This record gives sequence, structure tokens and C-alpha cells, in this order.
Amino acid sequence: MQARLTFVGDILIVIFCVAGFYHVFEKAGLPVVFVHNSLIVEQVTQDSSCFNVNDNLTAIDGTPLASIDQVEFYLDSKSVGQLVTVSLERNHQPLTRTLPLVRYFSARYLAVQLIVASIFIFLALFVSVKRKDDRAAQIFNWVTMSTALIISATWGKMTIEPNGLGHVVRAAFHLAYASAGVLFVHFTLVFPSARYVRTLRALRVCYVAALAFAAAATVLFLEAARDFNEARFELYNNVFNLMRLFCVVCIATGLFIIIHTYLTAQEEPERRKLRWILAGLALGPFSFIALWVIPQIFTSRGLLNEEFIVLLMLSVPVTFAIAIVKYHILNIDQIFKRGTVYVIAFSAVLAIYVGVVSLSPLLMGTLTVTSSLAVSTVAAVIIAVLFQPIRSRTQNFVDKVFFNVRYDYREAEKKFNEVIAQCYDESSIVTALTCSIDTLIPNSETRVLMENEKLTALLNGHREPAALSESIEFGAKFFVVDRWQFNVQDAAIAFRIHSERNGTLGVLLLGPKKSGFRYTLEDIDLLDSFCRQVASVLDRVRLHHTLINEQLEKDRLKQLNELKSYFVSSVTHELKTPLTSIKLFTELIEETPKLKPEQRSEYLGIIKGESERLTRLIDNVLDISKIEKGVKEYRFARIALNDCVKEALATMRFQLALHGFDCRTKLSTKKLMICADKDAVMEIVINLISNAIKYSSQRKRIIVTTSKCDGGCRLDVQDFGIGIAPEDRERIFAPFERAGSDIVRRTAGAGLGLALVKHITAAHHARVDLASKPGAGSTFTVTFPSITSSAEKP
Ligand code: ADP
Repeated sequence: MQARLTFVGDILIVIFCVAGFYHVFEKAGLPVVFVHNSLIVEQVTQDSSCFNVNDNLTAIDGTPLASIDQVEFYLDSKSVGQLVTVSLERNHQPLTRTLPLVRYFSARYLAVQLIVASIFIFLALFVSVKRKDDRAAQIFNWVTMSTALIISATWGKMTIEPNGLGHVVRAAFHLAYASAGVLFVHFTLVFPSARYVRTLRALRVCYVAALAFAAAATVLFLEAARDFNEARFELYNNVFNLMRLFCVVCIATGLFIIIHTYLTAQEEPERRKLRWILAGLALGPFSFIALWVIPQIFTSRGLLNEEFIVLLMLSVPVTFAIAIVKYHILNIDQIFKRGTVYVIAFSAVLAIYVGVVSLSPLLMGTLTVTSSLAVSTVAAVIIAVLFQPIRSRTQNFVDKVFFNVRYDYREAEKKFNEVIAQCYDESSIVTALTCSIDTLIPNSETRVLMENEKLTALLNGHREPAALSESIEFGAKFFVVDRWQFNVQDAAIAFRIHSERNGTLGVLLLGPKKSGFRYTLEDIDLLDSFCRQVASVLDRVRLHHTLINEQLEKDRLKQLNELKSYFVSSVTHELKTPLTSIKLFTELIEETPKLKPEQRSEYLGIIKGESERLTRLIDNVLDISKIEKGVKEYRFARIALNDCVKEALATMRFQLALHGFDCRTKLSTKKLMICADKDAVMEIVINLISNAIKYSSQRKRIIVTTSKCDGGCRLDVQDFGIGIAPEDRERIFAPFERAGSDIVRRTAGAGLGLALVKHITAAHHARVDLASKPGAGSTFTVTFPSITSSAEKP
């Protein structure tokens, strides 16, 4: 309904504008310019022998006239070319002259008027069509249309055909003049958003006042036009001036409202829209009021030529239309900033040039043609060298002083590019991204989620980010989601980190901005560019990792293969030795029926010992395999270390005896309670003793000691055997590793015993140390943590 009303109104106004233009075109006048506020001829504009400069006009066609306005009004009822008789006073001598009237406005003025009014009408229609449902846009349409009417239907010929049209046009002109100001105030109250509801209601009074002014001016105009006399005209003219004043007051109020709204605006987009408006106002109505309306009230003449004022007015609808429809495409800050920067930089460069050129005669004396050419070249070179630094310094200065710029888009993008190029793994990329965003666009929380299926599914298939509608400024491209769809607390906007090669790699999630403003178009562009950069670096890093992993996997498989074959050969060998002796002694017992009982029990003992060795080996292999698979479990309990040692020694008693070992124990008098898996601790003791047996060929003595030590309990297994070379002391604890000596090579073994000891001690938060002297023996020391400290650990 409102749109239809606007449309009908617009058509009517356009018709009035055309009629108005016609009646301005037909306006008649005298070929003279009068001195301010008087009817003394200052200048004769066309060849006319009737007038001399300083003639004083007193009457036209016998009607006495006292002011320029009266002359204008009186002649508005005449036609161009019509003969009038003017009464003059020349050197205090009255005289009369008859002359034809000329066209009041110049062709140039009429052309400017036509162009400007057309642009106003175009912008009014453009904004109203583009923003059909926007109330501010519709009011803008009315303000702009009224202004177009004021421009094109200013005082013109009132007696144009068809009869009465001139009067109707004047009435429409009055209405436009009276209501334009109020409409402007109305606009400022609803743009960028409707505020001051009460004031809006109070505005009705202003509309009534505007109507009253228009009606009064029209009635008085008709009176004065019907039967011209000075008193009637002055009454009309006074009301008309009052109406002008009313318009000025309204425009000033509107300005005040806009400045107030700008200062109290919370949101950046609002500010940007208002900055456009303010820019237009600074050029348009401000100059109109300052250069035309106010001087006219006092001197009945504007300061600037009317054409220029009208041209200046164009800035208003243009900037207003930009503010309403396209403020985000044309960033006013950027335009002003660039303009200011280049003007300052250019002035500085010019100053340098002038400085160099004017200083050189002082330094070099009179210049010849060649030397002045050289000076100009030097100045040009200096400028060429200095321009860029001057420009960037000026840019920084302008940014800092005039614009509270939070970040420079290009600079931020470049810096991030540099930072991210240094990242070689996913976590440093994520850290670089979050840190950069937190500095540039502080928000409640920046998160990068690499594997969030729900968010990935939400964003997939969309190029633009997902966001809550209230967190993004108007005009940005995004798809609206509800808070719950994010499925993550306090999120306002989400970008996908997407690579062409690997699809969606992750999601960048930001909370609301700490400033309380919405995300701007620049923010979105910057974040989008960050995500693209991150995706490409992630691609690179992932490819790199895949290649490394493939290489590692290859190496591991190779090593595993080597280990397998080694394991098979050494374990088979290890299995074979005890099995051979078991077989040998079993056959001996079988084949020798008359075997002495002591011999028989000796053989049986050997068989038993060898089977125990076999069992130990198999246990070790199984344990190592469990450890490798990560399934080895320990049953921790409070146990006495001494008891473990005793049980292990009992198990090894036969072995020790078989190889003729003297095994002494120096057990602590205390029980030495530890938190450990008993079987595992026994395994440690058995492995260490069996090694001591294996690697002590000469002095067959073993000392097993338990004692209390700093922070725990300690177990020492000391032998006096071959010892271990310093270079082997570390590696023998790794699986399948053995010392390099010949004796070791000749001794059966799979290289698993110490690896097992190492693992068990680690699982018990214990430590295994080795002290050895080649040829003199070795001492393996296992230190268990005290029960309290070990109990605290998991
Ligand atoms: P294995 O004894 O089956 O070779 P271990 O893991 O038990 O495997 O021992 C690894 C290596 O450590 C042995 O091959 C040997 O070279 C060295 N070693 C272990 N204990 C002793 C010791 N008490 N005296 C000398 N060398 C030892």
C-alpha cells in the first residue's frame, strides 16, 4: 500500500517537476542586475539602450515597486518578449522606457537545473525500488522528490498555459518547500534504524505546521497574484521567508539528530552508513544553508552562484543513496583515507621539488639551462626515491590520527602468510591461526576444530561462512544458522578450512566480537583468506608427513624383517640347546638300565634344569611379545622384596648348583615392602641371576643384596664374570641386543632378558643401573620407589 502511494506520489511530483521546469523556463525578467537590496541598476546584462548603470527603477507599467523580490514577483505574471514600461530615475530625473522582457534564467542555469533535478528523481526512484520494504528508503524517496520539485519549480512564470497551472505548480512548490525539512527530520529519525518513537509521534505536529505554512503561503500568493500591491506581496514574502526559516531549522535539527546518532551508534555498519550521510551533508545542505539560504534572508542574494549551489546539492542524494543501498561496496573510510593520504603525500613531494629547485640558485649561483635541467633531474630523482616512504608514513599517520583502524587488511594478510609459512605441523598452524585472529579480531573465543563431523556437515557445500544473523553486518555473504546448529557454546560464525585436494580439513569457529560490533565484510574476507591459506599449508604439511611416514614405515618394516629373521635364528638356537640335552639325557637313562641311582638323579636334575631354562625362554618370548603388543598387564600389590628374592633363588637353586656357583645373599633385616607385581619382580631376579651364571666362566660367585636406600628399596645382583664394555652398557637393554665379545657370541642367548628387566622396572617406576668392569664382573642394581611414593603413582 505504502509502496503504491509512493509510486503515485512520485508520478505526480515528476509531472509537477516538468511543469515547474517549463514555468521556470518561461520566467521573464529585465536585462539588468540590481545592486543588493535596492532597485539601482548595477549591470546591464543584454544590449539595451533603455538602462544605464545607477538608474533607479521605481515602477513597471505604473505599478510602484520597492524591492527586487517585488519586481520578480510582478514580472512572474508577464511573458518573455512582452513589452513593459519601466519608470526610472536617472540623475534624479524621472523618465520612462518601454522594452521587451527577456528570459530570466540563463541557458546554463536551466541545463544545470534540469540535470540536477533529473538525478534527484533518478536516485529517489532507485533507492525506493531497491529497498521496497525499507521505511527509511521510502522517506528518503519523499525528501529527494520534494527537493527535486524545489529545484525545478522555483519561482517561475505564474501565468503559463493551461490556465491556472502556474498557480498549481507554485502551490506544489510551497508544499515541497515546507515539508522537505520535516521529511528530512523524519528520515534522520528512522535511519539507520527507527529510534525515538515518541519524537516520531511529535513529528506529526511538524507535518501539520508544514501543511499550514504551505497553505498560508499559497493563499497569500494567490491574493498577491490576483491583484498585486506592495502590502499583499510583503505579507506573502514574509510568510515565504518564515517557511524557509522553518525548513532551515528542520534541516539543522536533522543534522543534530544524525550527529547524535553517529556519536551514540553501537555498530560499525551504522557508523559507516552515517559517515556517508555526514559526508553528503557537509557538502550539500550545509553549503546550501551557509551559502544560499542564510545570505538570502539577510541580503536577498546568495553568496555563490545559484548553479553551483544546486550542483553541490547533488552530493546529498548521492551519498544518502549509497548509505541506504550500497554503503558496504563503497567504503567511505577507504575513499577518504586514500584521498587524504595522496593529497598530503603529493603536497609533500611538491614542497620538496619546489624546495630543491628554489634553493639551488642560492647554493650554486645563477643557473644555466644545463644546470637547471640537472637540478630538475636531481629533484625528480629525490622525489622518486622519497615518494614511497613518504606515502607509507603518511598512510600510517592518517590511519592513526583520523581513522581508528583496527587492522590493515593487506598488511594482516601478508603477515599471516609469513607466519604460517614457518609452520611445519598441524598444531603450530592452529596456534598461528588462533593467535593472529585473537590479535586482529578479538572475540570471545577462537577455536579450530579439526574433526567435528556435525560442523563439517553443516558447512559442507557452502562457500560462504555460517553465522548467526545478528553477528554479521548487513550485506555480507553468509548463510544463517541458529545457535543450536553450531552445537558449540558461544559461537557466532564458522568458516570451513577447505582444500580442493583433501576436502574439508577443519572448521574455524569464532565467538561474538569483544567490541560488541558485528563481523564486517573486511573481517569475513580476511578470515576467509586465512582459512584458504591454512588449508593450503595443511595440505603441504600433511603431504610432507605422509611421505615421512611412508619412509618410516618402510624402515620399520625392514627393521622388523631383520629382527624376525634374527629372532627365529637365535630363539631356535636357544630352544635347540636345552632340547638336545634333554633328549640326550633321557636317552641315556632309557638306554642304561643299570644306571646308578646317584647318576640317574643327576641326569634327571639336568633334564629338569634344561626344561626350566626352556620355560624361562618361552616365558621371556611371550612377555616381550605381550609388551610389544601393549597387552602386558601387571598386578600390583604390597609385597616384601626379600620374599621375592628368596623365592627366585629357590627356583634357581638347581641351576646354580649345576654350574657350581657360590651364591651368597645379603638380605636386609627389614622386609622391604614395595608395591609391585610379584611374578614380574621374580622374573627380574631370575633373569639377572641366569645372566650372571651365563657370563661368569672363571669365578663362579654371585652376591645378591637387598637394602633400603634413599627414597626406596634396592636390589643388587653382582657377579665376577666377563663384565661389559662401556660402549655396550646402554644398548644391551634393547630387545635382541647382545654385547659384541666372542664369549657372548658363543654363549646361548636371545637378547631378551635385559629388555624384559628394563620394561618391568619402567612399569614399576623403578630404575635399573649397571656398574661393570670388563674382566672383573658386573653389578645390576634395581631401585624400587618407596611404597608411599610408588602408591601415589598410577
Ligand atoms: P642374552 O643373555 O639372552 O643374550 P640378555 O638380554 O639377558 O640376553 O643380555 C643381553 C646381553 O647383555 C648379553 O648378550 C650379554 O652380552 C650382556 N650381559 C647381560 N648380563 C651380563 C652379565 N652379568 N655379565 C656380562 N654380560 C652380560
